[in-house]
Amino acid sequence: MAEQVLTTRGLTKRYGHALAADHINLDLERGQIYGLVGRNGAGKTTIIRMITAQTTPTEGDISLFGAQGERENARMRARTGAMVETPSFYPYLNARQNLEYYRIQRGIPGRNAVDEALEAAGLTDTGTKPFKHFSLGMKQRLGLALALMNRPDLLLLDEPINGLDPEGIVEFRNLLLKLNRDRQTTILISSHILSELANLATCYGFIDHGVLLEQISAARLSEKCRACLELRVDDAAKAARVLEEDLATRDFEVLSPSVIRLYSHLDRPGEVTRALVEAGVGLSAVEPQGANLEDYFLGLIGGVHHA
Ligand code: ATP
Repeated sequence: MAEQVLTTRGLTKRYGHALAADHINLDLERGQIYGLVGRNGAGKTTIIRMITAQTTPTEGDISLFGAQGERENARMRARTGAMVETPSFYPYLNARQNLEYYRIQRGIPGRNAVDEALEAAGLTDTGTKPFKHFSLGMKQRLGLALALMNRPDLLLLDEPINGLDPEGIVEFRNLLLKLNRDRQTTILISSHILSELANLATCYGFIDHGVLLEQISAARLSEKCRACLELRVDDAAKAARVLEEDLATRDFEVLSPSVIRLYSHLDRPGEVTRALVEAGVGLSAVEPQGANLEDYFLGLIGGVHHA
């Protein structure tokens, strides 16, 4: 069985009457890259800050690496690294000097911790350039290097891709994939743009108004977002037989007794209509659908104008 890296149960944070996080149940297994997706103010930072013990939950439990109780959890926190707010780096110090400062301050043993972290964050060639001359991408990577200095087994990243240009996003994503592959680092990463996490996350949690609306694997999500013909019929079982026998396809999904998603025949809706009608299936609609990731998320939270 895969090692449970993080479990939260009923994790709740209340600010006055407002619920910033409302009974959140998260499950992260070793090696997963979990994308926490929600608009600004949805509660992502609050959840991550509770996991890192930067803020105290109002209610609920957190278990890191199977730990029971706060004392054991506190010990396990040494196996985590986090990038929550942009850390304050010294503008006139270079990447190595900044990390060395934090290494000493945090009591992380071994000077090679700095070199390893710079390497893992793709910052080995920044030389003597002071932090104040870094691009945003370099600044974010230095934040990542700082979070990696203790070689964490669980990495928590709050909106690390925010504001990066497309090239910066690809670079950052590749660094995370490499860490995940080479060190089996489990990663929890938040974003308000679902597509930023595409080709990275292996699992998604969608959050809105402090509520975790859905957890879904990346494979299942891309299946749900595949282009299809949505068929509205009076008898899905009968329609499914027609698809298999007359159209020789099994590439469909029966969503309910009256809705089928057909992933084949996308360019031949007329052929599908004819076969179903000729077999006596009542057909009220054949609609091409090509939901992309962003549409899926907006559909889930009820549209852009949801207050
Ligand atoms: P963003 O990306 O904008 O940071 P988020 O999804 O991370 O959004 P949070 O920062 O967790 O969201 O905020 C969730 C809600 O909790 C918001 O309504 C926010 O105003 C509120 N909140 C967060 N921190 C505090 C605080 N210290 N005091 C009062 N309310 C807070």
